[in-house]
Amino acid sequence: MQVVLGGIHVTALPEEGLAHADAIVSGEAEGLWTQVLEDAEKGRLGRTRSLTQRRVYKQEGWPDLVGLPMPRRDLTQSLRYVPFGVVQTTRGCPFPCEFCSVSTYNGTTFRFRPVPDVIRELEQCAPRVLFGDDNVMVHVKYSRELFEAMVPLRKHWVGQASLAALHKVENVALMARAGCKALFIGFESVDDVAVTGAGKRQNKPRKYHDIVRMLADHGIAVWGSFIFGLDDDRGDSFRRTVEFCVESKLTMALFALLTPYPGTRLYQRLVEEQRLTKDRWWLSTDHDTDAPFFTPKHLTRDELRAGWVRAWREMYAYPAIAKRYDFGLEHSWIQNVAFWPINLLMHELAERKIAGGQRDFRKHRLLDVPFGL
Ligand code: SF4
Repeated sequence: MQVVLGGIHVTALPEEGLAHADAIVSGEAEGLWTQVLEDAEKGRLGRTRSLTQRRVYKQEGWPDLVGLPMPRRDLTQSLRYVPFGVVQTTRGCPFPCEFCSVSTYNGTTFRFRPVPDVIRELEQCAPRVLFGDDNVMVHVKYSRELFEAMVPLRKHWVGQASLAALHKVENVALMARAGCKALFIGFESVDDVAVTGAGKRQNKPRKYHDIVRMLADHGIAVWGSFIFGLDDDRGDSFRRTVEFCVESKLTMALFALLTPYPGTRLYQRLVEEQRLTKDRWWLSTDHDTDAPFFTPKHLTRDELRAGWVRAWREMYAYPAIAKRYDFGLEHSWIQNVAFWPINLLMHELAERKIAGGQRDFRKHRLLDVPFGL
């Protein structure tokens, strides 16, 4: 068997990838893949070569997204995959969020697939779609054109969105008409100073509650994402974040410890400020107990870790789950079908993996879903 690795890890650190593969693909793969396959067929890849001779296929720059090949969905029919057709419409992001790797690895400008290409792919897809974009509603002109064209397809879809364009009711109404049922949103922090300090200036915490309500009124469930460990986080950040999630009745939320990915501005700054606590932290064998890998500004590492665990447990305690269930969202099947299984699974994750340190909490979980976390 020949092994080729790709993705952001080997793009950032090719030598780490080459130690485990016959070849690596650095950057976006579509324009290189045919060559990789031809070389594999002719035996030009090979782990027997010395590290310096192994093949590196490098994509220079940011290729345009016109005429991308159709994915082989017939290869992913198993129940082990999420039961959604995964489709990507854009790449790159111009926002300057300090912790994010997207602009480093996909560029600081938007690139779009032509709307007719996307519609052709959607027509061949399952009725349920997951947009793999980092941001489905951020270049408003493009997104409006796409969503208008999607209305007749009558798909149901979920995706990730930035808050930048969600304060406008006409944008939300169009997404709902185009079949949006749930959005994963990077709120990052409920604190104005913390979120601005992280470079995510498009987020305005004072508007969060109204935006979540507006989405709920249009039948769109919200999965929130939050980061703990930003420079302005303090001891009460954990409690305030969970309070917001429960009061706003978020369907689900993920809490991350701030993570300095190589190649990001955050990583560079923490190195310069001598606040990284472990070189090459990503090679740690136990992220679950070693993180965070930097010294926070207003908390100790132990306080940050303990607050993060507390937030998970409070968010997924049974009374908090019940309080978050939104009867007003009865017209969203995602809310109806998925709310209780997802939240009970997240309760297990919080208690067994986050708080209990079990590496494979799935061995013990209550719900045996075929695909999962
Ligand atoms: S966090 Fe979202 S908005 Fe910010 S740079 Fe990354 S993809 Fe763009």
